[in-house]
Amino acid sequence: MKPVEIVLVYQSLLGIYGDRGNAMVLRQRLAWRGIDATLTVVDPGDDVPSTGSVYLLGGGEDAAQISAVKALKADGHLFRAIDAGAVLFAVCAGYQIVGETFTVGENDEVIEGLGLLDVTTRRGPERAVGEVLSAWTRPDGTESLVTGFENHGGFTYLGVNAEPLARVEIGVGNCGDGTDGAVQGNVLGIYPHGPILARNPELADHLLERALGHELDPLPNPEQDELRRQRIAAVRRTGLRR
Ligand code: GLN
Repeated sequence: MKPVEIVLVYQSLLGIYGDRGNAMVLRQRLAWRGIDATLTVVDPGDDVPSTGSVYLLGGGEDAAQISAVKALKADGHLFRAIDAGAVLFAVCAGYQIVGETFTVGENDEVIEGLGLLDVTTRRGPERAVGEVLSAWTRPDGTESLVTGFENHGGFTYLGVNAEPLARVEIGVGNCGDGTDGAVQGNVLGIYPHGPILARNPELADHLLERALGHELDPLPNPEQDELRRQRIAAVRRTGLRR
C-alpha cells in the first residue's frame, strides 16, 4: 500500500506556535498502528505536492498570512488535492487564510483568502488569549473535549456552508459566539495551538480516519489520559468562562 503522505505547508511562515507538532503526531499515530506514512515539509518557493492525504497549516503573523495566501494561490496544488479528497487541517492564521476573507493591520485591510472554507475573519473587539476548552462532536454523535491555547486578534464568523467544529466551554474560540472552528467537507479549521493534535489524540485520529476513509483501532494510553484529565481540570479551575 502507498504510504500516507502528510504535508506540512509553509511552517517557516506559519509556524511560530509550534503547530508543526501536529504533523509529527499524525505520523506517529500511524506508525504505532503499523501504517506507513511520509512527512513532506513544504517551504515557500517549493511546489506543494498534490499527492498528499492530509495537509496542515499553522499559526503566524499577518504579513506571513498574506505571503502564504499569495504563494498557495500561485501554486494551485492545494486546491487540486482538496478536490481529489485530501484532508486540510488549518490552525489559527492557517484557519483564517483558508476562509473567504480576513483582515490585517491597523487599517483592517481586507485580504482574499483561499475560499476553501465558508468563514470570514475581521478584527475582534479584543485579542483572544488563553486556554480554550470545547466539546467536539464526532461523526457517530459522541462528544470529546478539545483543549488548546488560543492567541488571535481576528474573530471568525461562519457562513452558511460551514458547520462549527466545536462548542466552547472556556475561552473565546471563533468570535465569542460559543463556537470554535469550522468544517466544510474535508477542510477543517480551528484556533487552538498546543499543538492541538498532541493535546487531543482523538481529533488527530479523526483527521486520519477521514483521510484513510476507514476507522482506526484505538491506541490506549493511560498516562496520556491522566495528563489530559489533569489539564482539563486545571483549565476548568482557572480558565476564563464567557
Ligand atoms: N494574525 C492572526 C490574528 O492575530 C493570526 C494569529 C495566530 O496565528 N495566532 O488573528
